[in-house]
Amino acid sequence: MNVPFVDLKAQYETIREEVNFAIEQVLIESAFIGGRFVREFEDAFAQYLNVAHCIGVGNGTDALFIALRCLGIGPGDEVVTAANSFVATSEAATMAGARVVFVDCEPETYNIAPVKLEEAITPKTKAVIPVHLYGRPADMPTVMDIARRHHLFVIEDAAQAHGAMIADKRVGTFGHAACFSFYPGKNLGACGDAGAVVTNDEKLAQKVRMTANHGRCSKYDHEFEGVNSRMDGLQAAILKVKLTHLEMWTQKRRTLALLYSQLLKDSGLILPMEPSDARHVYHLYVIRIRNRDEVKEKLHQQGISSGIHYPIALPNLAAYGYLGYKPDDFPFATKYSKEILSLPLYAEMSEQQVQYVCEELVKYASPVEERTK
Ligand SMILES: *Cc1c(COP(=O)(O)O)cnc(C)c1O
Repeated sequence: MNVPFVDLKAQYETIREEVNFAIEQVLIESAFIGGRFVREFEDAFAQYLNVAHCIGVGNGTDALFIALRCLGIGPGDEVVTAANSFVATSEAATMAGARVVFVDCEPETYNIAPVKLEEAITPKTKAVIPVHLYGRPADMPTVMDIARRHHLFVIEDAAQAHGAMIADKRVGTFGHAACFSFYPGKNLGACGDAGAVVTNDEKLAQKVRMTANHGRCSKYDHEFEGVNSRMDGLQAAILKVKLTHLEMWTQKRRTLALLYSQLLKDSGLILPMEPSDARHVYHLYVIRIRNRDEVKEKLHQQGISSGIHYPIALPNLAAYGYLGYKPDDFPFATKYSKEILSLPLYAEMSEQQVQYVCEELVKYASPVEERTK
C-alpha cells in the first residue's frame, strides 16, 4: 500500500468544481491584486476566528515580519521564541532587525515552556512569539500573563493551527496579533504562497495593511516605506472555498489522529498528548522513537512517506551560530530533534492507510528512554 505524507491532489479532487469556478471568477473580473476576492476571504476568515481584523499578505513569514515591524520592534530589541519551530518564526524577528532569543520547549506539548520563557526575559525583550506547533495550542493564558507582567507584545505563530482552540476561543485571538500561513500543505492551504495577520487592534490592522502595500495611503502617496506583500485574488478566492471545508477536514484529521493514538497505545512509543482543555488540529501527528532514521527508511521502503519537523533545533542551525548557543542549552528541543517522526496525516487519508502505517511502524520502532525533567 502506498501512503503519501500529504495528498493535495486527493484534496483537489473533492473540491475541483468549486475551486475551478472560483478561479474563473477571478480571471473574468481580473481581480488579481486586492479587490473583492481578497476582501471576502479576509472577512470570512476573521469571522471564522472571531477576530476584528484580517489582513491578507504574501506568506506566513511576511505576516510575522510585518506584525513585528508594525508593533515597533526593531534593532536593539529582543524577541523570544521557541527553539523548536520552523525557521520562518525566528527569521521574521531578524528581518525586523531584532535579536532572536530561543527558549526550550516543554515535554509532552512541544510548545514553548512558560517558566523558561520568563527566565529569558531581559530589559531588551519586546515581544514573544509562541508557536502553536503541530496544531497544538501553546499555553496562551500563561504566556499572556507573563507578557502582561513584563509589558511584552505577543504575536502568535498560528501557521500550523488554523481552527485550534483553547476552551471555545480560537488560537490567533489571544495575542496582540497572530500570523497564519496558507502554504499549500498547511491545514488551510492556498495554491501557492499566502498568509495573513489577524488582530483586534484597529490601529495595528491599518498599519499592517499599509505596510504590506508599500506604506501606501492612496495610489501614489506613501506615508512611510513598507514592503510588497499582498495576498493575490486567485489565492483568496481558492482559500475562501477551502475555508468552507476546513471544519470537516479538521474533524477528519482529528479522527485519524485519535485512531493512530488508539492503535499505537500499547506500542511504548511516545505519542502526541491529546489536550483535555484545548482542541489540537493535528497539522502534524508527531511521535518519538529511538531509532528514528532507521524507521523512516524502513517505512519508505514499504511505501510510507514520513517527515521530520524539524531535524535540527533552531539554535543548533548554522544560521544561528552567531548567537553562541550550545545544544545543551536546549535539552528537550535538541533531544527531540533526533527522535521525532511525523506520520502521514491528511483529511482524505483512509483508516486502512492509518492501520497499515501502524502495523509497519511497530515492526521497526523501538521506544525512547524517557526522562521527564
Ligand atoms: C509554515 C510556517 C511558517 C511560514 O509560513 P510561509 O507561508 O511558508 O512563509 C511560519 N511558522 C511556522 C511554524 C510554519 O509552520
